[in-house]
Amino acid sequence: MKKTLLLASSVALLFTGALQTTALAVNASSESHSGFVNPQFDPSNPYSNFWWGFPLAGSQHTITSDYGNRPGEFHKGIDLRAKFINVYAAQNGTILGAGNWGSNGGLYIILQTDNTDPDSGKKIIARYLHLSEQNVKSGRVTKDQIIGVSGNSGGVDPHLHFDVNNAGKYTGLTQADMIDPKIFYPYPRITFTYLNALFSAEDVGTYEVDEDENDELFFDNALIDFVGRDKFENWKKTIEKDEVKLSNFKEYFEISNEKERELKLNYYGI
Ligand SMILES: [Zn+2]
Repeated sequence: MKKTLLLASSVALLFTGALQTTALAVNASSESHSGFVNPQFDPSNPYSNFWWGFPLAGSQHTITSDYGNRPGEFHKGIDLRAKFINVYAAQNGTILGAGNWGSNGGLYIILQTDNTDPDSGKKIIARYLHLSEQNVKSGRVTKDQIIGVSGNSGGVDPHLHFDVNNAGKYTGLTQADMIDPKIFYPYPRITFTYLNALFSAEDVGTYEVDEDENDELFFDNALIDFVGRDKFENWKKTIEKDEVKLSNFKEYFEISNEKERELKLNYYGI
């Protein structure tokens, strides 16, 4: 992984951003122990001073399924677009477990961080699911250490499921135990893009969405903006619902794989 390069470029972006307003420039003098400028430190967020590292390299990430309610279940974490790439320890800590949950989560790594939750008084635990490799299975790890490789274990399309809890446990977790992982990344160097779910609000509750990330059922903002959202919506109305798939969309709007890569590169800068 070219982690150093990616992070270096995000610092450069931040520096540019910090020059845009006086307020940002003033606060930009504070740096984390990772050396990152953090002009948007939020004192009301009890987790922002933990300075967690992101589980994936780079500064811009795509959430394919967000934390919170989704049809049929509560999603305990975030699903990140990640196809067989390195995953990193979010914080210094201890590996509590690394095994295989089969169809429920595939290969997993459980990290007990050194951070104590201010509410529960328990060590905050992060879980990495659907991995293809586990580089570390026990013992101590340091923040930003490579601990495994994302994958598709557990019968899913490739993605990283990352979740966080303050209940001090890693199985039998309920909604009340979970914390939105995004809260740990208030820094402007981390930005999220959300893919557009295929089904509209009125479909929720009638359509069962799998835990799986199905690439055919998600339409990237980079592609939608390219053709125009109105045209995208009109196209969906003209065809049968089960034909609303990414491959059909690309064919209709004559977007080659190469064009798709180019659009995403331009849109996300990575
Ligand atoms: Zn998930």
